[in-house]
Amino acid sequence: MDVFSRIRWEGYEQVVYCHDRTTGLRAIIAIHSTRLGPSLGGTRFLPYASEDEALEDVLRLAKGMTYKSAVAGLDLGGGKAVILGDPARDKTEPLLRAYGRYVGSLGGRYITAEDVGTTQADMDVILRETGYVTGVSMSLGGSGDPSAATARGVLHAMRAVARHLWGDASLEGRSVVVSGVGKVGYNVARHLVEERALVTVSDVNPAAVARAATDLSVEVVPPEKAHAVDADLFSPCALGSVLSPTTIPELRCAAVVGCANNQLADASCAALLEEANVLYAPDYVVNAGGIINVAEELRGYDRDRAEGEIRRIGDTTAQVLATAVAEGITTVEAADRLAERRLEEVGRVQLIRPGATSERARGR
Ligand code: NAD
Repeated sequence: MDVFSRIRWEGYEQVVYCHDRTTGLRAIIAIHSTRLGPSLGGTRFLPYASEDEALEDVLRLAKGMTYKSAVAGLDLGGGKAVILGDPARDKTEPLLRAYGRYVGSLGGRYITAEDVGTTQADMDVILRETGYVTGVSMSLGGSGDPSAATARGVLHAMRAVARHLWGDASLEGRSVVVSGVGKVGYNVARHLVEERALVTVSDVNPAAVARAATDLSVEVVPPEKAHAVDADLFSPCALGSVLSPTTIPELRCAAVVGCANNQLADASCAALLEEANVLYAPDYVVNAGGIINVAEELRGYDRDRAEGEIRRIGDTTAQVLATAVAEGITTVEAADRLAERRLEEVGRVQLIRPGATSERARGR
C-alpha cells in the first residue's frame, strides 16, 4: 500500500510505526485529526494476517474516532492504535510498557484506551510508562473498563430507534439478535434481558456463547446465520464489515443497532440498507458510550456526569434518524454531516490566535 497516498487522501495527520526489538513490539498509531483536541482511541491487539491489513484497520478506526468524538460533543480528536500479534501469546508486561513509551513519546497528541484484545489491566501497565492512557482502574484514579458504558449507550440508541420506528421506546417483547457477546455484547444482551426483550446471541467463541446462554437464558444461533435471523433488531457487537453487499440482502430485521466499529464493509452499504428497508443507526453514534466515559477521566472522573452524557446518545441517535428523513439522505450521511459541521465550526475557533505572551510567540 502507498501509505502517503492513502493518508493524504483522507487527511490523516500522522501515522507512527513502533518497533521494539527486545520485546517484539510491532504497533501502528494513527492520528486522523486533532482539530477538536488530542486524539483518543483504543489499542487493538490482533494477529493481523498482514501489515497492510493492520494499517487499513488502524486508519479506518482512527478516522471513525474523529467522527465519533465530534458527534458525541467531546473536545477530542480521532486516533487509534493496533499492536500486531496474538494477545494470548505475545502480550507481556515489557511489550505493553514499550508500547506505553511510544504513546508517551507523542506528548499527548494521542491518548490510548482499551479495545479488542486489550483490557483494563493492560491500561494499568501502560500507565506505568505514560499518563496518556484512559480506562485505567478506579483504584488508580481511572474510570475502569469502558465496555459497560458502551453497552448502556447502545441501549439508549436502541430505545431511540424503537421510538423512531414504532412510536414507543420500550424494548419489551422486541426480538433482538446480538452477534458477539464479548465485553460489550454480553452487557447489551444482559440489559435487553432485563428489559424483557427476546434475545438471541451468537459468537465464534464457544465459551462466550456458553456464558451468555447459561447466565442469561438466551437463544443461540451460529455466527454465520446471526444477521439473517428474523428479528426486530440486529446488533453487531463483534468485529467490523458485517454489513456487506452479500449480507445486506439476507437481513430480516427492521433495524441494525450495535457497538461494533466500522460495520459497513464499504461506502455503498448505507444505500443498500435503505433499499433493503433496514434502518441503520450509524455505529459511531451508537457506540460512543465508552469514549464518553473515558473522556470524563481527563477532567476528573464523575460517574453521574458521565452517565448523563451517555444518555445523550439516545438524543443524538434520534436527531440523526430524524435528519435523514427530513433531508432525504441516508442515516450515515446525516451522522457524517453532524460530525463535519462540528469539526468545521468548533475547529474554526482554533484559528483565533493566542496572545503575544503565549509560549509559542516567545519561541518556546
Ligand atoms: P471483545 O473482544 O470483548 O468481544 C468481541 C466478541 O466478538 C468476542 O467474544 C469474539 O469471540 C466475538 N466474535 C469475533 N468474531 C465474531 C463473528 N464473526 N461472529 C460473532 N462473534 C464474533 O470486544 P468488545 O470490547 O466487546 O468490542 C466489540 C466491538 O465493539 C468491537 O468492534 C469494538 O471495536 C467495538 N467497540 C467497543 C467498545 C468498548 O468499550 N469495548 C467501544 C466502542 C466500540
